[in-house]
Amino acid sequence: MDCLFCKIVEGEIPSKKVYEDEYCYAFEDIAPIAPVHILFVPKKHIGGACDITAENSAVVGKIYEAIAKVAKEKGLGNGWRVVSNNGPDAGQTVFHLHFHLIGGRPLGVMVSEE
Ligand code: 5GP
Ligand code: ZN
Repeated sequence: MDCLFCKIVEGEIPSKKVYEDEYCYAFEDIAPIAPVHILFVPKKHIGGACDITAENSAVVGKIYEAIAKVAKEKGLGNGWRVVSNNGPDAGQTVFHLHFHLIGGRPLGVMVSEE
């Protein structure tokens, strides 16, 4: 399968690793929008949030455990945001489920009116 984030998980495409466990891999976003901008992906390919099912949903809890741990390690005690874009209206550009951890500055409103 020609999937960018599968290739990053496999190490075929280089990335700046932040965290890794049995279930998930986390790395710095190539175009950060805040001082901390980390992507968390399941190691096993899931196309997006719309493909989460009873069979594969446990990994989402594991990813959130990792997010909370990394947010603490990065000193984001003042607040942080998790974003997961799903589908064209949300601006999803990579079709491998991922969670953006964003923080390190005041983040403003969650959804712009544009
Ligand atoms: P989406 O727009 O699908 O929610 O998020 C995809 C994210 O992947 C974007 O924030 C984009 O900057 C990031 N991205 C795209 N290509 C690469 C890459 O090759 N390496 C890394 N580290 N991030 C990437
Ligand atoms: Zn993939």
